[in-house]
Amino acid sequence: MALLELRGIGRDYTGRARLFGKSLSLRAVLDVSLELERGRILGLVGESGCGKSTTGRIALGLDAPTRGAVFFNGQPMPQAGTPAWKALRRQMQYIFQDPLGALDKRMKIIDQIVEPLHIHGIGAPESRREVAAQCMRDVGLQSHLGEAYPLQLSGGQRQRAVIARALVTQPELLVCDEPVSALDVSIQAQVIGVLTHLQKKLDLAMVFISHDLKLVATIADEVAVMYLGQIVERGSPQQVFSAPAHPYTRVLLDSIPQPLRTTSRPILQGEPPDPSQRPEGCAFHPRCPLAVDACRSTVPVLQPLTDRHQAACHLVSSPSPVMRQSA
Ligand code: SF4
Repeated sequence: MALLELRGIGRDYTGRARLFGKSLSLRAVLDVSLELERGRILGLVGESGCGKSTTGRIALGLDAPTRGAVFFNGQPMPQAGTPAWKALRRQMQYIFQDPLGALDKRMKIIDQIVEPLHIHGIGAPESRREVAAQCMRDVGLQSHLGEAYPLQLSGGQRQRAVIARALVTQPELLVCDEPVSALDVSIQAQVIGVLTHLQKKLDLAMVFISHDLKLVATIADEVAVMYLGQIVERGSPQQVFSAPAHPYTRVLLDSIPQPLRTTSRPILQGEPPDPSQRPEGCAFHPRCPLAVDACRSTVPVLQPLTDRHQAACHLVSSPSPVMRQSA
């Protein structure tokens, strides 16, 4: 049984346009289904604003889906803030992009790592400080840094503290949202090394959200590519990155700078469309170099290709192609 399952989730936001007072509906996530087993890493990739973070927040129940349902350990995700959801929180943790924003600047690091143990009543009160100190050692933080405040730490040390704080409750599921993109390149590899080492050691299920395709290719067991709120391709890193089936995935991969590349390759044109003005048919068609007439009117859905490889495109072949009309 999957530890985490998202069944056809969608998330809409409604607001008012300032100029005309009109009500605007933004479909941030549409019909996303995913499963994640213990000990596995799911990489969620795509451009900024494609719905990756919203999907991650919904996975932990931090944000409620407008449609669909989330299951954790086979049980429906309780509503955020309820006692049942609070009880689950020790098993599900989130690591944000900005470690400074995630830490309390007025609290010592050791106190912030101990705090989740107090909140969830884990372990004997007199032993909690030692548990937190061990967690600091596990992430490679020297013990004297426990007495420091966040602003006295480097960016890499702060993110290690955030990881220690997330892991001190021994969660089963970790959602990491761009966990190293705010760090210097030289530090990123160290922090990723700590995260993946502990993920294996603790048999954690991890959703790893990133726009860094190379990084995801090296750590994920499965990859899902998102475009404008939908998954357009999924499969193993080998399938998605070595034999991409969806034109968006191909152009994303071709956009990665390659210093030794001598031939010119297509570069992704234009900005992602405004989610409040979603194109009809395939949402990628205004930017797709291969678009045909059907792409402007008919939404492609994920179709099986080989093994666990799937793509949502009218031009990919499938044993049983399925199409549906635009809503
Ligand atoms: Fe391009 Fe059409 Fe495929 Fe969409 S369905 S990715 S527009 S070819």
